[in-house]
Amino acid sequence: MANAEVNMKRKIEKKWKTGLIDIGNDCYAYIQTGGLNVSNAGLIIGPDSYLVIDTLFVKPMTEAFKCSILEVTDKPLNSIICTHHHADHTLGLAWFPRDIPVIAHEHMRERMIESELDLAHFREVNPEYAEHLIEVTQFFPTHTYKGSMTLYLGNRRVELHNMGHTHSKGDTMVYLPEEKILFSGDFCFNFVTPATFDAHIGNWINKAKKILKTFQIDIIVPGHGPVGDRAILEDMVDYLSLVKRQSRKMYKDGLTAQEAAKGIRLGIYRDWIKPDRVEQAVMKLYNEFQGKGDQGISLELAKGG
Ligand SMILES: [Zn+2]
Repeated sequence: MANAEVNMKRKIEKKWKTGLIDIGNDCYAYIQTGGLNVSNAGLIIGPDSYLVIDTLFVKPMTEAFKCSILEVTDKPLNSIICTHHHADHTLGLAWFPRDIPVIAHEHMRERMIESELDLAHFREVNPEYAEHLIEVTQFFPTHTYKGSMTLYLGNRRVELHNMGHTHSKGDTMVYLPEEKILFSGDFCFNFVTPATFDAHIGNWINKAKKILKTFQIDIIVPGHGPVGDRAILEDMVDYLSLVKRQSRKMYKDGLTAQEAAKGIRLGIYRDWIKPDRVEQAVMKLYNEFQGKGDQGISLELAKGG
């Protein structure tokens, strides 16, 4: 008999090491606690300069990230890569110098412009940061790519891979093939329930399975939660597939999305941060089952994201 416990090998952590974490090969993860809009960033140091991956949410977070960078390098900043458009990964662009190239997939930039920044919404869902969400200027990527793109820091190859419409439209994962390090952005959440309001969950599952088959990965820096290995991606596939499987059955049985959301049995994933995000996943999946996979659900319906 198949062992249902096969995927349940990892002990769920509720707290983890935060701050700048050395992951080897002059690469660092900048890890935060993982609540709503509390995201991670990355740092890759080359022979002459460094680049950062994502810029976090509010000024104190971004300034703390920048201070921690100064502790490990005195080289200049070369460029900023944005994994996707969500404000918790991009608002921090405001506190980086304007003459630094900001690189993203072309669909990320389009989506960022189209989705319009609603600071009042963020003040409401993150009252603890409200004072930092009053007058924030939004900055956009200055350079976009199609398909995939490679940057070089000296001889170090830094690959940007577009994931299509998965966590959002225009997701980029940053992959170092030599070092087998993946900065996944929100394509991966670790011990934090994924936000899916902008996602295409079917595409996400398929793409994640393909990445597991084709990429050699030793370390993943997720968009939220602690650093880990490829088990993070395996768990993402498992979680999203579990929700999809149960939702499809309830959809076929004629239940509404709201009824279905109440009926999902999350198993071990009940203990991830923000398990109630399953509601937005079910609503999103119902759109996909009805052939409206392109259609996102509002931040309001998603209870803040
Ligand atoms: Zn996101």
